[in-house]
Amino acid sequence: DQLINQIAAGEVVERPASVLKEVLENSLDAGARQIDVQIAAGGIKLIRVADDGRGMPREDLPLALMRHATSKISTLDDLEHVASFGFRGEALASIAAVARLSLTSRTADGEHAWRISNTGAEQTPAPAALTAGTVIEIADLYYNTPARRKFLKSENTEFAHCQETLWRMALARPDAAFSLSHNGSVKLRLTRTDGARRIRELLGSDFFDQARPLEVSAGDLRLSGYAALPAYSRATRDEQYFFVNGRFVRDKLLTHAVRQAYADILHGSRHPAYVLFLELDPYGVDVNVHPAKTEVRFRDARGVHQFVFHALQRVLAAPLA
Ligand code: ADP
Ligand code: MG
Repeated sequence: DQLINQIAAGEVVERPASVLKEVLENSLDAGARQIDVQIAAGGIKLIRVADDGRGMPREDLPLALMRHATSKISTLDDLEHVASFGFRGEALASIAAVARLSLTSRTADGEHAWRISNTGAEQTPAPAALTAGTVIEIADLYYNTPARRKFLKSENTEFAHCQETLWRMALARPDAAFSLSHNGSVKLRLTRTDGARRIRELLGSDFFDQARPLEVSAGDLRLSGYAALPAYSRATRDEQYFFVNGRFVRDKLLTHAVRQAYADILHGSRHPAYVLFLELDPYGVDVNVHPAKTEVRFRDARGVHQFVFHALQRVLAAPLA
């Protein structure tokens, strides 16, 4: 069982940033509006996330670390079309298989918090102090799987990936506040705001002032966000954010549709910059293709491609106001 968990962990949590992604998704699934992240040594030494979500009662704490004991699905149909981020119930079990993990949590009606950890004396819940929400601490990632640890890059590189993970989450959820620190110094502090302000805060006014706002619907498809004009094109693909039903994706079909929409106005080796949100009926998209969940499969791939291409092309081609 431990081995199965370690193998599964390899897919779910291949590096600190993928651990952070799972943990952030859990916080958002729990309704958190304030999420504070502390990273030490690129996340290898520590990933600590505190949220103000609804928390877990004492009896749920041991379940949270067990495989497939998720609270978020009850039927197979749910599994295929879940609205929440997490649904497999394997992230925490996988992380617990390759790190020292502790959970401290308190529900709104709890008299105090409870803490559980996968090491030491607290493998059953013990009383703890916390005013509200949940704190998860993941320490010494891959301490028991040195082969995996060898694949990690430098601390700064791993931290950069963690920061990127937080950016993606923050762009998708401007209604939540975030903070991020590395080795004790604060790297990012974001208050709750609207989508436009969040994008400007993260990508800067250089991007924002050169970007066209977008808000196009057709049938049950809706595309919104900001796409930069060629003057703001980049040498790299760093500033390409595409979200499908609130999840960051890097999808061939969508990337292709965007590139084609820019084809007539963007030349050479430059790359467009954009933050785009596609919304559609959850039944029209399978987000379950890969555990890391950045690829998607559309029921009507052709229709989605056409829609994104035309919506974007029209906005980019409109004359300057
Ligand atoms: P999943 O998210 O797929 O259900 P996870 O392994 O990621 O599975 O989490 C297991 C369970 O632990 C969740 O279903 C949820 O009930 C609980 N949980 C994890 N993190 C939090 C959190 N920050 N706040 C409240 N509950 C949480
Ligand atoms: Mg989860």
